[in-house]
Amino acid sequence: MQFRDLKKQYQTLKTEIDEAVLTVMSEGSFISGHQVVALEERLARHVGVKHCITCANGTDAIWLSLMAYGVGDGDAVFVPDFTFFASAEMPAAVGATPVFVDVDADTCNIDPERLEQAILRVKRTGKLRPRAIVAVDLFGQCADYNEIEAIAEKHSLILIEDAAQSFGACIGARRACSFGDIAATSFFPSKPLGCYGDGGAVFTNDDRAARLVRSYAVHGMGDNKYDNVRIGINSRLDTIQAAILSVKLDAFEKYELFNINRVADLYTDCLKNFVKTPSIKKGYYSSWAQYTIQLKNESQRFNVQSVLKTKEIPSMVYYPKSLHQQKAFETVFLYDKCPVADRLSQTVLSLPIHPYMTDEDVDTVVSVLQDYVNK
Ligand SMILES: *Cc1c(COP(=O)(O)O)cnc(C)c1O
Repeated sequence: MQFRDLKKQYQTLKTEIDEAVLTVMSEGSFISGHQVVALEERLARHVGVKHCITCANGTDAIWLSLMAYGVGDGDAVFVPDFTFFASAEMPAAVGATPVFVDVDADTCNIDPERLEQAILRVKRTGKLRPRAIVAVDLFGQCADYNEIEAIAEKHSLILIEDAAQSFGACIGARRACSFGDIAATSFFPSKPLGCYGDGGAVFTNDDRAARLVRSYAVHGMGDNKYDNVRIGINSRLDTIQAAILSVKLDAFEKYELFNINRVADLYTDCLKNFVKTPSIKKGYYSSWAQYTIQLKNESQRFNVQSVLKTKEIPSMVYYPKSLHQQKAFETVFLYDKCPVADRLSQTVLSLPIHPYMTDEDVDTVVSVLQDYVNK
């Protein structure tokens, strides 16, 4: 069994993908081809925002978002303590200081109450200027933007949505990648919408930020690439990747997002009576980057993972360390303890999930877990 079956997806879409890639080859416009422009327009429309700027990966998308708002030295950037490293790595890379905030035990997303406490604490301490929030839509479910947007506005903070795992998700009628001032997503192959290599995109309704992102992504260009008005980076989505993504977006919109939700619902129906299954808030729709259960403790997780492995069922631990436990952040001052994040890092386990998973595959995983728990 595959954790995320990209081969099966390719077999399903092979004719269209091969044709799209061969077209790019024969046209020879490998950077910034018309497929990139068309994809950006389509993605912006899909999400419901004015601007989409594609780039080389999701990490750069966060980086470019921070650069567009001039986040840097002396700034505090509030980040959930339980996420992929890049969410806090990029704030640190621009010279800002990540302030780790504990997460909600059910959704694993940043806890709005703790967020506000952290902002007030940083203000009182007076060493850093509260400047931005990077809210992460972990495992495919949007963070609590009703609360977080209000907090950002109240404290005049820039709100960046790290939507690397949530493309396709929504809260009511609002789509992931449309929250806050600016949003970053990733097209890493195993993300909800993935390409065949690295890729990413920035989304915003802010004309000025969009213009700056386009500039920073191409060496701080002014009127053209050889007119350089600021220090930037080189971060673009290859035309081949854009061509692949446009085929994949068709499938994603037509049935993949629907199918993965069907698989997730089936898992939850079968598992909820004996293990802590993911909690999706009312009115939220997840894009299921991961299906993550919570075990009782680290040793139970180890045992469950071992049993699954003997049946050749892959499972993953996202994430084995909370951010403040990472060596790279050992010198970053921790304003508040993050017991929930610490606990999650010991108890979470992500199970195989993808849009092409069959009911039989789900049954196999469920029965192994059930046998283990009933033993
Ligand atoms: C994957 C991921 C990123 C980084 O995306 P890349 O395309 O791998 O650079 C950032 N944040 C989160 C939460 C992610 O899951």
